[in-house]
Amino acid sequence: MKTNFKIQATASAGLESLVARELRDLGYGDTLKIDDRSRVFFEGEARDIALANLWLRTADRVKIVVGEFTAKTFDELFNKIFDLDWPDYLPLGSSFPVAKAKAVKSQLHNEPTIQSITKKAIVKRLQQYYHRPENLPLIENGPVYSIEVLVHKDVVTVLLDTSGEALFKRAYRMEHGGAPIKENLAAAIILLTTWPANPLRPFVDPTCGSGTFCIEAAMIAMNIAPGLNREFSFEKWPWFMENVDFEDLKSQARSQEKRELSLNIQGSDIDAKMVELAKRNTLAAGLENVIQYKQMRLQDFKSNVADGVIVSNPPYGERLGSEEEAHHLYKEMGETFRSLETWSKYIITADEAFEIYFENKATKKRKLYNGALKSNVYQYFGKRVKN
Ligand code: SAH
Repeated sequence: MKTNFKIQATASAGLESLVARELRDLGYGDTLKIDDRSRVFFEGEARDIALANLWLRTADRVKIVVGEFTAKTFDELFNKIFDLDWPDYLPLGSSFPVAKAKAVKSQLHNEPTIQSITKKAIVKRLQQYYHRPENLPLIENGPVYSIEVLVHKDVVTVLLDTSGEALFKRAYRMEHGGAPIKENLAAAIILLTTWPANPLRPFVDPTCGSGTFCIEAAMIAMNIAPGLNREFSFEKWPWFMENVDFEDLKSQARSQEKRELSLNIQGSDIDAKMVELAKRNTLAAGLENVIQYKQMRLQDFKSNVADGVIVSNPPYGERLGSEEEAHHLYKEMGETFRSLETWSKYIITADEAFEIYFENKATKKRKLYNGALKSNVYQYFGKRVKN
């Protein structure tokens, strides 16, 4: 049985460096590698895979690298897939969908064929290993081991997904409004801000929608593990769970929470229905005593305290409302925020003209993808507060 694994933490484009930072903070800096395709790898045991799933806020999934090799023909692909250590991963009865095949700049380019050859090669290997007749299909009614094959410049990477549902699903957002931001993107944006370094400062999302930024901010500040209330694929794998006391890892995580912190996190939205939804999600996250919500137009936001942080994902023409309305809102946003000189503001939008209407050039811009939408986080650093 395998005990040490090469592990990949996947992320959407632009977030890899944050995933790497999280892995370093979790103690995996020694084996951490980011390759020339921005893929983030580290090494570890089953316990480390469980911890990465439990703790990573910005990643999409955690996958085991089952094998890497060169293949230019389907015969070569079949033979090299066949040779990988499948019996170590797949007990008899496992369901092992080859869920995804992708080929880029390679001689093998027919993705459905790559998928079916991979499946056939694994089936044949298991039939031989478990002494099953080759003329009958293997029964697959057990735990799911989802497999992926990526071919890039003739180099094949075979991956086994350990997460199951993507990690942005934390189980607190039962419903969402019109244009929610994914939980891991929200966490990434918060980690880009200066707020986590000093989370006693006010945190405000004036276009809070379903409450994602406020909830993720509270979880970051209180050191609440994002995966505590969900399930992972690996929990159903007998050989994996024999080596991990996952209940113990979860209870250790719970004991590290800083629930006693007195935070100042506020969310507001023009739409009363959204405010209700944000409250429901916040209740599901167990943070109802931590975050304050109210219905309010962002144009009415005021504060007489210093040094707060605003994070906002305002509407943009493409998703909600018209472009003209969005531009008008950015202008009013600019006017409303102007007096908050010591506050730092982080606005994520796909609208390239944001700075023009906001009438202020960002201190820094960072390109990210909000789903498929190319977006920017416009970052405005507040003036330093003198102590
Ligand atoms: N980040 C949120 C989604 C934000 S979508 C989430 O994860 O769910 C943009 C939100 O801005 C919508 O909920 C919309 O109701 C709100 N909004 C639009 N105009 C506004 C205004 N003038 N003041 C406050 N909120 C506004």
